[in-house]
Amino acid sequence: MTLHADYDPDNIFAKILRGEIPCIKVYEDDVALSFMDVFPQSEGHTLVIPKRANARNFLDMPGNELGSYMQRVQKIARAVEAGLQPDGLVVTQFNGAPAGQTVFHLHFHIIPRWEGEALGRHAGGGMASAETLEPVAARIRAKL
Ligand code: AMP
Repeated sequence: MTLHADYDPDNIFAKILRGEIPCIKVYEDDVALSFMDVFPQSEGHTLVIPKRANARNFLDMPGNELGSYMQRVQKIARAVEAGLQPDGLVVTQFNGAPAGQTVFHLHFHIIPRWEGEALGRHAGGGMASAETLEPVAARIRAKL
């Protein structure tokens, strides 16, 4: 997938936004939806996506909507930190397949890191069960 292509309304995050497939939800308002990554690179790996369903990546997002979206990214990052108390947090985002993007609806990753614990593979590790993810999501939600 190149950086420049039409938005695919059938991408997996668009389906999550429309409620067609489930997610372990952390937060939702009129601007953004946040949910647990099902192939987590660490415990508490959380995604934040804009509700606007036509931005494939960071470059596509209208500048005047970025501020409100990034406030949600920070809000969730703060709740992840407060709820899980990691030693560090990666906040990252990929644009285009050569950069590592695999789902073509804009999203930020919030990935807690603990001293001495290796980072799992990006979009390539094992799938976590809802039973595993739900209690972690609850700890994050409790700090929102
Ligand atoms: P990226 O590779 O930056 O586009 O990130 C996409 C992320 O979405 C990866 O970290 C995947 O593990 C994650 N992912 C893929 N499908 C789902 C899903 N159904 N629910 C939650 N996260 C997903």
